[in-house]
Amino acid sequence: MRMGNVVSKEQVTDALKTVRGPDLEGNIVELGMVSDIFISDGKVYFSLTVPAERAKELEPLRMAAERVVKAISGVKGAMVALTADKKPGASQPAARPAAAAPAHSHSHGHAHDHGHGHSHTHAPAAAPARPGKAGIPGIHAIVAVASGKGGVGKSTTAVNLALALKANGLRVGILDADIYGPSMPRLLKISGRPTQLEGKIIKPMENYGIKVMSMGFLVDEDVAMIWRGPMVQSALMQMLREVAWGDLDVLVVDMPPGTGDAQLTMAQQVPLAGAVIVSTPQDLALIDARKAVTMFRKVEVPLLGVVENMSYFIAPDTGKRYDIFGHGGARAEAGRINVPFLGEIPLTMAIRELSDAGTPIVVSEPDGPQAVAYREIARSVWDQVSGAAQKAAPAMIFE
Ligand code: ADP
Repeated sequence: MRMGNVVSKEQVTDALKTVRGPDLEGNIVELGMVSDIFISDGKVYFSLTVPAERAKELEPLRMAAERVVKAISGVKGAMVALTADKKPGASQPAARPAAAAPAHSHSHGHAHDHGHGHSHTHAPAAAPARPGKAGIPGIHAIVAVASGKGGVGKSTTAVNLALALKANGLRVGILDADIYGPSMPRLLKISGRPTQLEGKIIKPMENYGIKVMSMGFLVDEDVAMIWRGPMVQSALMQMLREVAWGDLDVLVVDMPPGTGDAQLTMAQQVPLAGAVIVSTPQDLALIDARKAVTMFRKVEVPLLGVVENMSYFIAPDTGKRYDIFGHGGARAEAGRINVPFLGEIPLTMAIRELSDAGTPIVVSEPDGPQAVAYREIARSVWDQVSGAAQKAAPAMIFE
């Protein structure tokens, strides 16, 4: 057993009182932005609640909070997460893209190759899609990873799910549809620009054996920020249809957070086989998660299930588990709204640090418990979207 923590919550709170609020009035403690503070082995964990639409702009605030805490003597590390308190503003009109690419077929777009060594049977058609939404030739199933709000770990889940599907022997791509805040270049440590093949077709980037497309490879973030709805939709359709994805079992789409018009249009226009909803256990997040479920139901996209992220906390020193975030909320809620529960992922320093380093936990600690959990989630997702599960679950059949 270790001695009690030398760093106290009071010390942390006092330090945080020196950080001004977002509009330079008051301080973040007085403003009630600081969550419960958890201290373990000299490492300090807490979150700051901010308005979703300001999350990006308030990144310096998060860094300032981390900095003042790290400066306390005895503190070995600080992990501060921004959590949003409402869904991001979704003022974009749900306009149809004028320039959406037609579903032309690429040279690689025929005859799904079954000789890649897994035992499952593919559905005869391409992606299981509703009439009116043309599937992408060569891609068996497109799976959206979505959340009702930002900061719940949607991108972290998307990247680890994609890598876990790959680890389970599938051919996988990931499309970063979070055009206003693309994170795949960083999460997968990919830089540079994709090359153009014949015609307008773009060759996807690749790392860790998965193919990747992200707006982050194509335009600077501040350029994308000023794009309006139709431009975003058109860019997305191009990334979907004018990229040489080749034959894929699953294309994971990291959706933009939230449930506004832009997300709804996307859910409608991308031929999705299903959606995975990421939620934290907190009530507020669950309200948002429910909105995401409602959104996909509205456009008749099957709900593959809910992942509870930051489900509980594992103290790095003792390995002891703490249910400080109201663990189990997502599971209970999934039951209530009749959506499968896919699994829970704890809040750990490793997940965050490995993501930041561009070496997601599924590839860097493939035998660890978190990688195992992601692979389980991946198995369940594939069970549902591969041909076999469609027969078992009538809800999956669209025709
Ligand atoms: P979103 O896509 O929902 O905005 P991200 O995936 O970007 O969220 O995650 C937000 C932050 O939380 C990132 O810094 C990420 O590394 C961190 N994070 C996500 N999931 C976990 C986890 N299970 N444990 C620790 N940190 C996490």
